[in-house]
Amino acid sequence: MSTPTAGLRPATQLLHAGAPTLRNGAGPVNVPVVRTSTVRFENTAAHADHHHRRAAGERVASYGRHGLDTHRALEDAVLGLEGGHRAFLTPSGLSAITLILLALLSPGDHALVADGVYAPLRRVDSTLLQRLGITVEYFSPTHDDLASRLRPNTRLLYLESPSSLLYEVLDLPALSAIARDRGVTVATDNTWSGGWFYQPLALGANISIQAATKYIAGHSDLMQGIVVVDSPALADKLSTAYEALGLTIGADDAYLALRGLRTLPVRLAQHQRNATEVAGFLQQQPQVARVFYPALPGDPGHALWKRDFSGASGLVSFAFGNATPAAADAFVDALRLFGIGASWGGYESLALVAQPERLREHRQWSGDAPVVRLHIGLEDPQDLVADLAQAFAAALPAR
Ligand SMILES: *Cc1c(COP(=O)(O)O)cnc(C)c1O
Repeated sequence: MSTPTAGLRPATQLLHAGAPTLRNGAGPVNVPVVRTSTVRFENTAAHADHHHRRAAGERVASYGRHGLDTHRALEDAVLGLEGGHRAFLTPSGLSAITLILLALLSPGDHALVADGVYAPLRRVDSTLLQRLGITVEYFSPTHDDLASRLRPNTRLLYLESPSSLLYEVLDLPALSAIARDRGVTVATDNTWSGGWFYQPLALGANISIQAATKYIAGHSDLMQGIVVVDSPALADKLSTAYEALGLTIGADDAYLALRGLRTLPVRLAQHQRNATEVAGFLQQQPQVARVFYPALPGDPGHALWKRDFSGASGLVSFAFGNATPAAADAFVDALRLFGIGASWGGYESLALVAQPERLREHRQWSGDAPVVRLHIGLEDPQDLVADLAQAFAAALPAR
């Protein structure tokens, strides 16, 4: 028998979600990897029955592209975290974003997008959406008046909280209320929290997306996206676009994401502990002008973060007080324990100098000093602090 999970607390539910049914009194702990292209049917009636059930919106597979047991177990585990009506698994976080945009926007439509979103969305806009006659406008959710930016043809409000690079925390309940009042669908990128520290659907969003590539996978060995929607009507729209685009993920990748999910709460708790220690160290450095981490009491988003989030991730950015771009590069090059690279959410620490043109897209940022983004991994935080200290001393000795 599979374990009943109703009424259990989220961490317990996450460990038991999708546990396979025992057969003849025994079986594995984990859901098997069910790989297939063709689904076989006992007879033509069973074949027809599956087609009818799919057409009625049931999550049954009549073909490998629809995904089988491993996919269903992952979808159920994610729905347990995020709440919501239905989950869609996509080959990358970016494809999850593109899926929403293509599913919800038609020629002549307008979308409002927060200026601090994951930057490649702008490329989807400038290539695909513009060609389709869809208008995307970027706005600052903390500086602009949302109500006055909505147009009669606005169909989508797309947010990310905290924002990419500078972790600006948004007032999702307030923004959602304004948009929903005008019939505008609200989608938000929840990658920062892994779905564990933040439940956007409970705060007013209609759609939550994640790059499972990051914290859900947790080991820098997987590309995957997840979209969760709050209603059957949105599930229908997403489903139509998902099928038309031929999206699917492999069962092995669904298995890896499910395996990552089991340890999400403990990994994130440690990422937060380590990042908090590093953020506190950075604040004390004479070379650092500002630390971006919503869990710090001085952060502009701290009050909203405390109200709406139950924890903070391992992402910490900081701005130098006075450093040339070459000195910022020298600092990152001097680090020994931090890899240099994009992405994040794995067990390991990473560092990257933010591109100035990316920073200029964020209205909240007006400085011109270099900014470094750190992903604080699961190493011993004292080793990370020591590494950062020696890199400051090597690249920017305090005078
Ligand atoms: C990485 C990332 C994505 C894109 O995910 P990929 O799997 O790399 O395509 C989307 N949103 C955010 C916030 C991200 O950090």
